[in-house]
Amino acid sequence: MNAMTAFWTEADYDDHELVQLVRDPKSGLTAIIAIHSTHLGPGAGGTRFWHYPDPKAAMRDALRLSRGMSYKNAMAGLPMGGGKAVILADEDRTKSPEMLAAFGDAVEALGGKYVTAEDVGISEADMVAVSQRTSYVSGLPVEGEDSAGGDPGPFTAMGIYHGIKAAVAHKLGKDSVKGVHVAVQGTGSVGGGVARLLAKDGAKLTLSDIHEDRAEALATELGGKAVAPDAIMSTACDVFSPNALGAILDDEGIARLDCAIVAGGANNQFARAKHGAMLAERDILYAPDYVINAGGIISVAQEYLDRQQGASGGINEVRKRIAQIPERLVQIWQESERSGISADVVADRMAQKLIGR
Ligand code: NAD
Repeated sequence: MNAMTAFWTEADYDDHELVQLVRDPKSGLTAIIAIHSTHLGPGAGGTRFWHYPDPKAAMRDALRLSRGMSYKNAMAGLPMGGGKAVILADEDRTKSPEMLAAFGDAVEALGGKYVTAEDVGISEADMVAVSQRTSYVSGLPVEGEDSAGGDPGPFTAMGIYHGIKAAVAHKLGKDSVKGVHVAVQGTGSVGGGVARLLAKDGAKLTLSDIHEDRAEALATELGGKAVAPDAIMSTACDVFSPNALGAILDDEGIARLDCAIVAGGANNQFARAKHGAMLAERDILYAPDYVINAGGIISVAQEYLDRQQGASGGINEVRKRIAQIPERLVQIWQESERSGISADVVADRMAQKLIGR
């Protein structure tokens, strides 16, 4: 695997503390576990099961995503560092119990330096299988309403809702979202949750999803309007809330925006690094994605901490941390205004400081 020989010369290598190749010929497992930082606690981040065009792309993903988790966990105030694993799937995406067991053994061998959970291609059932071999796992089924964990979507939506309210107060000087027009891209677990919470407060909603019937049904339920997927970014509104795909803020996407605020849960919203500054030049307030969408990881991390400590009732801690998302955003916006540096870069710098870099 040539990509492994000099991964530390890759542009995405950022003094990661550990990058491990895991091979188990018997089960066919090839995985990379990358731990970016354990400065604040164990490197936490999900496992992605994906068919990559080549091993280099898998390495890039592991390096980039694990650094992202360091930043996200630090900015969420969690006692967790950043890590990520990728399992290199074959073209048929063959996954077996033996493969998951071998992966669990590899996580266990790291002795708690890395804590895993679900990511793209890995289900809750897969995590249950991994948990047969290691306790350094989160994202397992939970029981009871006051337990942290379970589906992270509603917690992510809650954080975004608080973040949108903070953005509306900061940019528009309004202490409520009543009558504020929010255009929501993607009405799945996160976008649908955000729309429901905003509707309760009387926000005006325009919704869109590539599954147009989904957006239309939700618009009917909440009293909003549904538009075609290619119309949502140019909708004249106060807040554009991307909750579908990443990389939507590119040259063309930013030019089309007709809003004062971008605040939504989609990961990696900027197509390239330069697009953060481009958005700021248009005087659009930006809520950095990994700060505003941290509600899910806050819940998943608390589930892990509760299980490790044999405790429960962590839901209050989750709510407390989610309620702090707006404070962090305001800090970022104030520093951005003071320094003239775009909000995404300010957030990265704050995160780097928190992890001692
Ligand atoms: P989901 O699959 O439940 O919903 C995504 C929705 O977006 C789907 O309804 C899909 O049809 C729609 N969609 C896809 N492409 C679209 C397009 N071009 N235009 C309009 N709609 C489109 O996923 P989710 O869990 O709601 O996650 C949404 C985003 O939030 C993703 O980027 C995800 O990485 C991010 N995120 C999710 C969580 C979480 O807790 N679920 C946490 C952090 C970040």
